[in-house]
Amino acid sequence: MKRRAIYPGSFDPITNGHIDIIRRSLKVFDEVVVVVAMNLRKSSQKSGWFSPEERIELVRKVFRGEKRVRVDLCEGLIMDYARSHKVDAVLRGLRAASDFESEFMMAAINRELNEKVETVFMMTGKNLFFVSSTVLKEVAAFGGSIQAYVPRPVWLAVKKKLQLGELR
Ligand code: ADP
Repeated sequence: MKRRAIYPGSFDPITNGHIDIIRRSLKVFDEVVVVVAMNLRKSSQKSGWFSPEERIELVRKVFRGEKRVRVDLCEGLIMDYARSHKVDAVLRGLRAASDFESEFMMAAINRELNEKVETVFMMTGKNLFFVSSTVLKEVAAFGGSIQAYVPRPVWLAVKKKLQLGELR
């Protein structure tokens, strides 16, 4: 039987940190679905750079040709999505100790909502523990280069938006 994991997050935009987690998780799972989740807390901070459609398109470009990685959108509860899509596990990445508390809470409430689905954590990749979409957005907005931390399609999209003055 195929083991399917979902990897939910904002992915605004997808970074090398996310990609590393996805690639390593393919050693454990047959299929990983990157789920762009509409997170109320984050969107209320007006921190969004890319629309959900743009984020999905960037994930598609990065994993073009990789049949075991898919991408989808979730507008409701991740655990409801998991229930209706035959999901075995929810994949999350851990960077620093500071990630632990919120991830611990999230995993606990998710288990209350759907006890059939396990949350599986993977440690951040080598030299990627400081990479988050949020930090990269700050660096790029002030003119710093983030090229080393994002895949090429994301770098091109960020550059284009910066040139058009669309990014604060
Ligand atoms: P962020 O905006 O913090 O980069 P997302 O909401 O897109 O985060 O993250 C989705 C998941 O990916 C979370 O579990 C997050 O901890 C994880 N993640 C993000 N960046 C990394 C990284 N560099 N290494 C490991 N896990 C990461």
